[in-house]
Amino acid sequence: MVRDTYDRELRDLRVSVTDRCNFRCAYCMPRDVYDRDHVYLPRDEILTFEEIERLVRVFAGLGVAKIRLTGGEPLLRHDLEKLVAKVASVDGIADIAMTTNGSTLARHAGALADAGLDRVTVSLDAVDDTSFRGAADVDFPVARVLEGIDAAKDAGLTPVKINTVVRKGLNDDALVDIAGAFRGTGHIVRFIEYMDVGSSNDWKMGDVVTADEIVATIAGEWPLDAIEPNYPGEVVSRWRYRDGLGEIGVISSVSKPFCGECTRLRLSADGSIYTCLFATRGTDLRGPLRSGATDEELVEIITSVWQERSDRYSEDRTGVSVGLPKVEMSFIGG
Ligand code: SAM
Ligand code: SF4
Ligand code: SF4
Repeated sequence: MVRDTYDRELRDLRVSVTDRCNFRCAYCMPRDVYDRDHVYLPRDEILTFEEIERLVRVFAGLGVAKIRLTGGEPLLRHDLEKLVAKVASVDGIADIAMTTNGSTLARHAGALADAGLDRVTVSLDAVDDTSFRGAADVDFPVARVLEGIDAAKDAGLTPVKINTVVRKGLNDDALVDIAGAFRGTGHIVRFIEYMDVGSSNDWKMGDVVTADEIVATIAGEWPLDAIEPNYPGEVVSRWRYRDGLGEIGVISSVSKPFCGECTRLRLSADGSIYTCLFATRGTDLRGPLRSGATDEELVEIITSVWQERSDRYSEDRTGVSVGLPKVEMSFIGG
């Protein structure tokens, strides 16, 4: 295992497979920034499935066992199940998950599961159709996302997790509705504090609803008891409904940051690695990969990036990266 300057191990890798998305959630890809003129990565700058597989193999050699596919919207990448099958064939990879907006999941869940995908997280900020269209800023029915969630369950991609970003004025009045829609289904809603990631969402502390406030709101309807994390260092706080109808999670990235537990590295669609969600720059692996670097040379680059890592942005909002342009969430995938 490689360790950074705060003794954190490199354990999981998030792979962004595209910087494109068919939704325009205002906290991530606001429509006025990601408009018709926005320039996306050209195809030849995006890693091929073979290149991603090779990198995953190198990371597995360094002790990484968990992979999460993300984006942009990962299901916009054609034949994603072929990538899943390649990643699943790598020795040492024990868990493959995907984060998706669920818009085409109903169509793909079966093939993804057959290819070796273990779990899926579906992002969903509202369950009523009008609010959903507003939150995702798109003309798309929430029913199709809900069908996708059902299809994921039927395909065994369980437990299905639902990621709900909570933002004041967006969906803070609908938390009970969202929790209620999934109580008793086996799906786990995880409420996420709205983060100051990227430079395009005009984040303000006043728009954040804290994890404590979220828990108090849900517990006001259905009493909750705190439960133990699934494993040491899990970043989500878990709460069980006292009446036995399941659990929710809250991710307090802003109010109670957890940088001390941060064991993730992010690979962007164009093949750079980022050690923090709030990074201002990454380290290119595509160049060396395409110019014939050996596995040992790639290991050397990755190891030195991780060993030098000292990010703890959320614990130190006054730190050096404040004010510099940060990488966008849709680019490195959350
Ligand atoms: N398009 C896919 C989706 O939405 O699930 C995958 C990529 S998306 C960038 C990954 C996750 O980041 C989503 O769950 C999304 O809600 C979350 N996210 C994006 N911007 C965020 C922000 N400013 N604060 C908190 N979470 C954010
Ligand atoms: Fe797209 Fe996901 Fe960002 Fe929403 S959160 S705009 S679905 S990438
Ligand atoms: Fe990890 Fe950076 Fe988030 Fe802290 S702020 S938990 S170091 S990604």
